[in-house]
Amino acid sequence: MAEKLLPREKGFSEWYVDLVLKAKLADYSDVKGCMVIRPNGYALWENMQRVLDKMFKDLGHKNAYFPLLIPESYLKKEAEHVEGFNPQLAVVTHAGGAKLEEPLVIRPTSETIINRSFAKWIQSYRDLPLLINQWANVMRWEMRTRLFLRTTEFLWQEGHTCHETEADAEKETLQMLEVYRTFAEDYMAMPVLTGRKSETERFAGALRTYSIEAMMQDKKALQAGTSHNLGQNFAKAFDTQFQGRDGKQHHVWQTSWGVSTRLIGGLIMTHSDDAGLVVPPRLAPTHVVIIPILGKAADAEKTQVLEKVHAMAADLRRAGLNVLVDDDDTKSPGFKYNEHEVVGTCLRVELGPKDLAKDSCVMVRRDVRQKEFVPLAQAVEKARAMLDAMQSEMFAKAKSFRDANTFEVNSYEELKRRAEDGFMLAHWCEKPTCEAKVKNDVAATTRCRPFDLKQEPGVCVVCGDASPGRIVFSRAY
Ligand code: AMP
Repeated sequence: MAEKLLPREKGFSEWYVDLVLKAKLADYSDVKGCMVIRPNGYALWENMQRVLDKMFKDLGHKNAYFPLLIPESYLKKEAEHVEGFNPQLAVVTHAGGAKLEEPLVIRPTSETIINRSFAKWIQSYRDLPLLINQWANVMRWEMRTRLFLRTTEFLWQEGHTCHETEADAEKETLQMLEVYRTFAEDYMAMPVLTGRKSETERFAGALRTYSIEAMMQDKKALQAGTSHNLGQNFAKAFDTQFQGRDGKQHHVWQTSWGVSTRLIGGLIMTHSDDAGLVVPPRLAPTHVVIIPILGKAADAEKTQVLEKVHAMAADLRRAGLNVLVDDDDTKSPGFKYNEHEVVGTCLRVELGPKDLAKDSCVMVRRDVRQKEFVPLAQAVEKARAMLDAMQSEMFAKAKSFRDANTFEVNSYEELKRRAEDGFMLAHWCEKPTCEAKVKNDVAATTRCRPFDLKQEPGVCVVCGDASPGRIVFSRAY
């Protein structure tokens, strides 16, 4: 039997790291904060990319690629942007054995270098909207890192768009936030709140930042994606202008939006259990593993079982499923069950001579881990139905957990007492000082002001001043 994982109750963080390593999703590297994404982890990223890429393209976005190295002077053009990112920059000062005339920043995000191109590409309103996406790695020198959730180098997509009007840019910003919500909920089975971030949490250089926020199993929040309305800040810094319908020159209105390999961390922390990874079928690299139970069966029986196993695999593949036949005879069935639970294969099929005699097999769903006896003739139909049920039940379970741990707090005492209990909906006056006090006292931060929450004015739980509505305070990753 393979080594057991640490259980969640022994420490959620320890469980998480243990799972990432044992499920062979990622590994540490010798450079602090960087990680190796192993094939099991990369397969999840590829599936996420595939789905998101299609969603972006369906809305008219096109992929492009911009350089990794950004002249330092570009970053300095937008004052707030450089101030916000400065502490996190990695800078190349030497190359080819000599000191560079101008230091080159390893991109922490690409608004600046992309605007350098946009300024050349855009002439008139006919060139708008310009809808670009880039799949790339970026680097932010993070102080505290955690596999997938916060690394110094991470993989992401960054959308960058230009529009004629402020209203068009705002519409795009919210549309992409909604794309992220759909992806998180319908594919990752991870319920999210969408809403606007506070001024403190706003992206450096943006007018407004919106985010999707998920709740992990330890009731902490994870900012799983962000969408920014950049206004004309970068357009003015880079002189990205167009001739309008009125014949005059105008600066474009811009947006940017991104999700990263952090999503893999979110997926793990939302669904997985003490036996290992649990992956929603719509993103699973392997939907079904078929394990022949051969034991001490006679050779003729073994041949019959293996023939049936491979025929079933072919049928399941024809139905669009990713199928693995694990007929490695150096490992026992029990060892394989355990191994596939750790890596999160959605459905396990067991088939031995006794099953074959009854024209049936055993199917076990990874999330609920209950055995079902299934007639062989119904294997494909049943596997698909079980995967569909798994996808929707995983979402329902995560949503009821999130909802059960989301509550109103109406005093500062209550907020302090319940800071570890989940999402606290509290009135807040929008002053950064009150936000800072909460952060300092109980390590909770504002997450977002949820769109789906019916808002009424009230009084700030921290200072008693007028509040326009409730915001989510929570401890967060
Ligand atoms: P931002 O450009 O700061 O809005 O970041 C876009 C998204 O990238 C965030 O919403 C996070 O989901 C993700 N992200 C930011 N920093 C990191 C990091 N250090 N490691 C992994 N993902 C990150």
